Amino acid sequence: MNAFVLIFLLVTTGSQAACLPDSGPTSKKILMDVRDIENAALDFEASVRSLLPSGINLIVRLEPNSPRTNAEISKSGNELSLVVWGGMLGHPEMDRGTFLLLLCHELGHALGGPPLKSRNGWSSTEGQADYYSGGSCFHLFEPNEELFLYSALKLTSIYAHVTREVAPDLQRCDEVQVLRTNYGYPGVQCRLDTMIAGRRNLPRPRCWYFPQTDHRINMQSEIKEEGFTTSDFEVQKFSIQDRIKKLDEELRQSPHQESINDGQKSECAAHYETNH
Ligand SMILES: [Zn+2]
Repeated sequence: MNAFVLIFLLVTTGSQAACLPDSGPTSKKILMDVRDIENAALDFEASVRSLLPSGINLIVRLEPNSPRTNAEISKSGNELSLVVWGGMLGHPEMDRGTFLLLLCHELGHALGGPPLKSRNGWSSTEGQADYYSGGSCFHLFEPNEELFLYSALKLTSIYAHVTREVAPDLQRCDEVQVLRTNYGYPGVQCRLDTMIAGRRNLPRPRCWYFPQTDHRINMQSEIKEEGFTTSDFEVQKFSIQDRIKKLDEELRQSPHQESINDGQKSECAAHYETNH
């Protein structure tokens, strides 16, 4: 069996990537039916199997009794473990679509490619995981654009609630233009913009991504410079090859020229990266 769900069990191993900076426990009651959550988690495991490289297993673990409002993915050997805690599961804005988009974000840490959070790390940055989440992953569950926007708005609204930021808005975009790629947590409006850009196959927004950074060269030099332990090597080998392949595909494409004047969010066009 390649994938299975362990409900009510939390085991974290290896390095981790969370969807939010931790804000301390909150007391939340689960509003979404536990069975709906379990079913959504099972759907997720079954559906994303097609996205996983062969030999990589995925486990979704739910921890409904924990007050933490967060989710996290960790990697150990060939196993990806994804955990969602009770404060997140019980948030009033949480529903099936929002939950699946959150899971896609976590998966995006493992499969989203560069830029990575840290040198020699395996995890994509928050911005890159957001960018990945709206695309091929969430499309498996929700092909409808409007329902995607609804879920993306709700998920980033939960983030805003936790980080006490101004709520994101589909009619706005983050005006920030970074001069260096943000390897941490972008603002919630930027995260919403990024999910939408990923969904529409638009370039990554400039509110967190600086296009002149050649992440591929950085990664190749890291391969040369750094040795790996035997156990780490297989993981790194898979990750880096997968990411380089993905970046090569991006580079082969001409600069993104898709129409971005299709209604909502068109004003964000100036803030997207201009090349790859
Ligand atoms: Zn994350």
